[in-house]
Amino acid sequence: MLEAREAVRRLKEYHPPLGGRVGLRLDFNENTVGCSPRVLERLRQLQFDQLARYPERESVERQIAGHLGVDPAGLLLTNGVDEAIHLICETYLEPGDEVLIVVPTFSMYEIYAAATGARVITIPAAPEFRYPTDEVLARISPRTRLIAMANPNNPTGTVVAKSDLLRILRAASDAAVLVDEAYFDFYGESLLDDVASHPNLFVARTFSKAYGLAGLRIGVLVGSAAQMAMVRRVGSPYNVNAVALACLPEALAEQEYVRQYVAEVRQGRDRLEQELRSLKLRFWPSQANFVLVSIGERHDAFVRAMRERGILVRDRSRDPGCAGCVRISVGSHEQTERLIVALREVVRAIVAAGVPA
Ligand code: PMP
Repeated sequence: MLEAREAVRRLKEYHPPLGGRVGLRLDFNENTVGCSPRVLERLRQLQFDQLARYPERESVERQIAGHLGVDPAGLLLTNGVDEAIHLICETYLEPGDEVLIVVPTFSMYEIYAAATGARVITIPAAPEFRYPTDEVLARISPRTRLIAMANPNNPTGTVVAKSDLLRILRAASDAAVLVDEAYFDFYGESLLDDVASHPNLFVARTFSKAYGLAGLRIGVLVGSAAQMAMVRRVGSPYNVNAVALACLPEALAEQEYVRQYVAEVRQGRDRLEQELRSLKLRFWPSQANFVLVSIGERHDAFVRAMRERGILVRDRSRDPGCAGCVRISVGSHEQTERLIVALREVVRAIVAAGVPA
């Protein structure tokens, strides 16, 4: 009988609750107003020829490299950061190798790493979800082949100081260190400039969040030219589709659109955090486009009551260290005002029901 590999049989299934996401989508950290109109215009102009041919990545890669100020030989466009993570795992991990991740964090590091048969060592975050740099340094062994972190982190919105990341990079020179900067646009600090001086560093970025292109599936992976030559060997030459490649230069060209959206989200995040303080809800100050909030035992009822008011938020209470927590993405000013009205009503209803929030 055909059997999947043992590492695959042991994997947990990952089911994002996607069905029927009707309403204001504050559950997946997406852009909530959409991509720049130039992208839509480009989509409308697509000709059959562009779909009939296999996609060619290289010229768009050179443009992105120019935009990011990195060596094109060290840059690969990917089918979202998800694929970047997958490729790193495929390139560097063998069964029995060790992978270090600090939890809670984005699920795909563990899934792709475990699928190779590597041993995933999860290290709990320090109080207030701080990154436990000393513990990570202490767990580095000759078998450590990958250390992955999201900066800012999902679902907490917390960040790792650059000085800590540099310490890890130096201490784990035989391991790939993947710094996932999916939420970079909302934060502003990056390790991209350090790729040239650290051959084991990989930085991933996405166009799914600030740029509003989650459905097109485009990300970027940057590393040293020598390492990226290895990573390219395991990927498909056609991993990024022609529609995404046609749209990306347009998305990049309209920086002002992204800048304005990001500014609005950052103001909305401050506004939401201020409201959470006045509602006496515990939360973790965030550098991303979402905030993790502790609702308490009634997290389920909270998510349901928000949905009844047309607002989707994401229950994260099963993530390590996140009991009772819900993650709320931030969108435009208008959406944030709508969120706050619903939040006040729902929190009042929960308190009125006599159950501690
Ligand atoms: N990394 C992190 C930290 C994320 O939160 C997400 C999306 N939830 C991703 C990567 C996936 O990004 P993409 O859409 O580019 O695959």
